[in-house]
Amino acid sequence: MQTKKICMIGDFAVGKTSLVSRYVLNQFSADYITTIGVKIDTKDLILNSGDQIKLVLWDIAGTDSLATIGSNYLKGAVGYFLVVDGTRSATFDSALQLQQQAKTILGDAPFTLLLNKLDLSYQWTLNKDEIGGLKSNSWSIMECSARQGDGVEKAFQSLGERMTIAVSS
Ligand code: GDP
Ligand code: MG
Repeated sequence: MQTKKICMIGDFAVGKTSLVSRYVLNQFSADYITTIGVKIDTKDLILNSGDQIKLVLWDIAGTDSLATIGSNYLKGAVGYFLVVDGTRSATFDSALQLQQQAKTILGDAPFTLLLNKLDLSYQWTLNKDEIGGLKSNSWSIMECSARQGDGVEKAFQSLGERMTIAVSS
């Protein structure tokens, strides 16, 4: 089975660890656990084609993920999630900066901008025009809630499909 590395990228407390935990274990913990170092989880994914791949999910620590994201973390990834906390628009700006960094190492590897904490959508402060602009630049942008599970499976499935198209073409 082919293995595919995916990196979780995004500012502090946007929900990177929670998303992996929801996807891999179908669990959510409201307890705040700061990830130390790098945590690696795996999960098998069945593609629409019927082929099976093993996703290797890299979840970085970080109180300062902007500073610590490095080439060693990203190296070998064939896709990545840029995670945003919808209730904190500053994390959207961080995601854009991080995308620039990721691009220098991963080139045009597929990625999805994941707007997390959809269960708190009444508190969202994101700029809809800015998001619309990125969408018209054909960015993949999805909404999800690690807490409730909405959109999580779909986000991983969709990135998995795009990664395998990118690799085989
Ligand atoms: P990380 O630093 O990006 O890994 O973020 P965490 O996964 O540790 O989550 C940071 C905080 O946000 C924790 O208190 C989580 O319980 C909370 N959180 C994560 N995802 C969601 C979500 O979808 N909805 C809500 N309401 N809280 C979330
Ligand atoms: Mg974490």
